[in-house]
Amino acid sequence: MPDHPEDQPPDCPHCGHTVTAISVVGPTEAYVSPCGCEIAPGLLATGFEP
Ligand SMILES: [Zn+2]
Repeated sequence: MPDHPEDQPPDCPHCGHTVTAISVVGPTEAYVSPCGCEIAPGLLATGFEP
């Protein structure tokens, strides 16, 4: 039985590293920490408030 999978942080879609923070720098640009890959805002930011 899964152990609260919704509580786990997302994985980076590029490198698979666990994402601990998302920095949105524009309407179509965002960077995840700590790996630093660029992603589309909203892709991982469930519940993120600008
Ligand atoms: Zn990455």
